[in-house]
Amino acid sequence: MSIKVVKFGGSSLADANQFRKVAAIIKSDENRRFVVPSAPGKRFSDDIKVTDMLYKCCEKAGGGIDFSEDFQLIRDRYNDIISQLGIDMSLDDEFDKIVSELKARPAKDYAASRGEYLNGKVLAEYLGFNFIDAAEVIIFDTKGSLMLDDTVKAVRARVRNLENAVIPGFYGRTTEGIVKTFSRGGSDVTGSIVANAVRADIYENWTDVSGFLVADPRIVENPDVISVITYRELRELAYMGASVLHEDAIFPVRSAGIPINIRNTNRPEDDGTMIVSDDYNFSRESMKHTITGIAGRKGFSTINIEKAMMNSEKGFGMKVLRVLYDNGVSFEHMPSGIDTMSITVDSSELEPVREKVISGIRREVNPDHIEIEDNIALLAVVGRRMKNTRGTVARIFASMAHARINVKMIDQGSSELNVIIGVSEHDLPEAIRRIYDMFINSEK
Ligand code: ASP
Repeated sequence: MSIKVVKFGGSSLADANQFRKVAAIIKSDENRRFVVPSAPGKRFSDDIKVTDMLYKCCEKAGGGIDFSEDFQLIRDRYNDIISQLGIDMSLDDEFDKIVSELKARPAKDYAASRGEYLNGKVLAEYLGFNFIDAAEVIIFDTKGSLMLDDTVKAVRARVRNLENAVIPGFYGRTTEGIVKTFSRGGSDVTGSIVANAVRADIYENWTDVSGFLVADPRIVENPDVISVITYRELRELAYMGASVLHEDAIFPVRSAGIPINIRNTNRPEDDGTMIVSDDYNFSRESMKHTITGIAGRKGFSTINIEKAMMNSEKGFGMKVLRVLYDNGVSFEHMPSGIDTMSITVDSSELEPVREKVISGIRREVNPDHIEIEDNIALLAVVGRRMKNTRGTVARIFASMAHARINVKMIDQGSSELNVIIGVSEHDLPEAIRRIYDMFINSEK
């Protein structure tokens, strides 16, 4: 028998109907023994997440403003779920406790955590599963950093003789006993920790999309779902803004060699995306295309520096980077020529110190020419198979040339896992579409 840890996001538990789907998914596989729920999310696009409602109550409580009406909406959401599911339970005592706690000590993390806590109670009751308060087992130090080893030990000890359990996501407590949350979307992290602790065979992360898409659906119409992606590829794409999963959810499972399966609660028949370690044994199906995904991000600037004989000047690069460092600007990419150097930075980091950076570089290395070009977008073409496939870069350039898109920068990492190209921001959508056509549509 294998063990599956299943995490359900807020939209998967937004109302009674979603709860029914979740229960059906869990009950259809007896290996789905440990369940990590989020708080009820949005039922429709301009609905409000319970977590946000709780933050609002806390803010009002902190300002001594009456929040009973706001809190009533929260009571209603849970009570609707409970009554529509026909569960015999009341959360009235819990609600009253939260209200009085917020009046006495309006702490943000405590307030937000109650969304998951209450949802966990309801789900455990509905499933007939054990309930474990995450504050018992998810442990942070006094500075608010997760203590992974202690947490894993605590979870392991607590579930030792349990057949099943619901453990709410998003929060835990500090060693001093104060409730603490992860950053937003943090139930993913709880799921990952629990998967590590119970030595799960798989961590299923159930959400409202059928996995990671090869490209942004706002740019490419109806893009393919990525069936298998490695952790490293995921990181490359996530850096460019493709996100489905909380960043901190990777480490606890990756370090334990546990794959993550992103699944869709509303389409449980879809296989979703498997996120696996780099040495995973890939099947033929997953080797369908040369590339795994494409993602792009706007908001970069390049600092272009020219100086004759730059290549023979010792410490040139170091001095330039030191100027950036001293001004708190981190660099993203740095392709260079014999007498040129071009540094790509995040425009929002550069903006406040722009003049200081230019004068600093002038002073340090006395360039022949220095200029900053703004409105640059970076685009990453990511794929573990590129390494063994000749002509990938040529194909990227061909698709750019056909579309008359000027490539301003290119950077192929030494891992050959990705190719990063810089284009004008206004060319980004077309560049993504062209690459998608070249590598996905034409390889079908
Ligand atoms: N409910 C929390 C949030 O809205 C955590 C989560 O859903 O993962 O951010």
